Amino acid sequence: MTAALVGVVNAGSSSLKFSIYDGDECLLNGQVDGIGVRPAAKARSGTGQALPPPDVTTAPPATPGEALVALLPWLQEWLAGRRLAAIGHRVVHGGPRHAAPARVTPALVDELAAFIPLAPLHQPHNLSPIRAALERNPDLPQVACFDTAFHRTIPEVAQVFALPYDMAERGIRRYGFHGLSYEYIASVLPLVAPAVAGGRVVVAHLGNGASLCALRAGRSMATTMGFSALDGLPMGTRCGQLDPAVVLHLLAEGMDAPAIEALLYRRSGLLGLSGISSDFRDLLASDEPRARFAIEVFVHQVARNLASMAGAMGGLDGIVFTAGVGENAATIRAAVCRACAWMGVELDEAANAANAARISAEGSRVGVHVVPTDENLMIARHTRSLLG
Ligand code: ADP
Repeated sequence: MTAALVGVVNAGSSSLKFSIYDGDECLLNGQVDGIGVRPAAKARSGTGQALPPPDVTTAPPATPGEALVALLPWLQEWLAGRRLAAIGHRVVHGGPRHAAPARVTPALVDELAAFIPLAPLHQPHNLSPIRAALERNPDLPQVACFDTAFHRTIPEVAQVFALPYDMAERGIRRYGFHGLSYEYIASVLPLVAPAVAGGRVVVAHLGNGASLCALRAGRSMATTMGFSALDGLPMGTRCGQLDPAVVLHLLAEGMDAPAIEALLYRRSGLLGLSGISSDFRDLLASDEPRARFAIEVFVHQVARNLASMAGAMGGLDGIVFTAGVGENAATIRAAVCRACAWMGVELDEAANAANAARISAEGSRVGVHVVPTDENLMIARHTRSLLG
């Protein structure tokens, strides 16, 4: 008997990515882009072969929810009689209560909608396909997997802001994000880096969004993102850590909240600093001084915050680089490791240039590793195990 299949959905403002898993094997990957503008779909088999994509042009979906509805009949056909047992969704915010994935009910969706102001770029789009599938197909089990859940092990001293304490009780606290990525890395570390897995490891998830996580024996002890996914490191278009007085100053100057939100989320970070691009490949290929400067600022903040994460754990045994930049950009990894040499980090330049799995030199006190992350597989595993 073949196992029932699990779908994984990761929805953003204008795109919906979907995958089908049979156990840990990915059978299908696809994407609908340009939702609300000019939708276009593509799909590939697990082995990378292009497949005839679903039709999203006859009745163009205007939301990620409509995109999922448009996809379901195509999926049924593609599955050729095999059963889709459940869909697991990436949901950016689970609030203070959820330390694990949760089975979707209408009440859960309402609860999660209350966190939209905390993650305005992601949460509404994450919830849109969940709602659509609940309406169209209420018997299909769904599971919400939160980017915040993995960080609920962070000690309270590292979760609170030094604001009046009742504000923390009202939910104004650090949540942390990229939790599915960190959880996946923690789950594979005993296999890929056994010497450091039980120790103090900083995982650097450096992609378009970027954050660090202090892992002690596989549990999150601190992270750079906070109340929102805006805090911590500078990112593609997000500013990262900022003195809150800057926001007060901009308000006093007459800028309104939506304009400040657009500034901090969409016009800052690498894009704002360079004036060229939010994409590291563009910046690394550019000769413009401001492209180099933006990368220097990024590296400075990664190295400085890495030390802060080590401080939260009382030391450092390992560093793991992951996500688009962490897995591919050898020059960024080298610059971060050079800035962390004082903590006992010694790089093997050749291994680093080759994107090898272990990139620290023989004898380096701190083991440095490159581990590809797989948030979708983490969602598929959670969905399967939650449904028994
Ligand atoms: P997201 O947060 O959107 O999932 P990714 O983890 O895919 O992002 O990372 C995207 C970033 O990774 C982009 O800035 C991209 O330029 C960068 N990146 C991808 N491949 C490379 C590469 N070979 N060299 C340098 N940067 C890369």
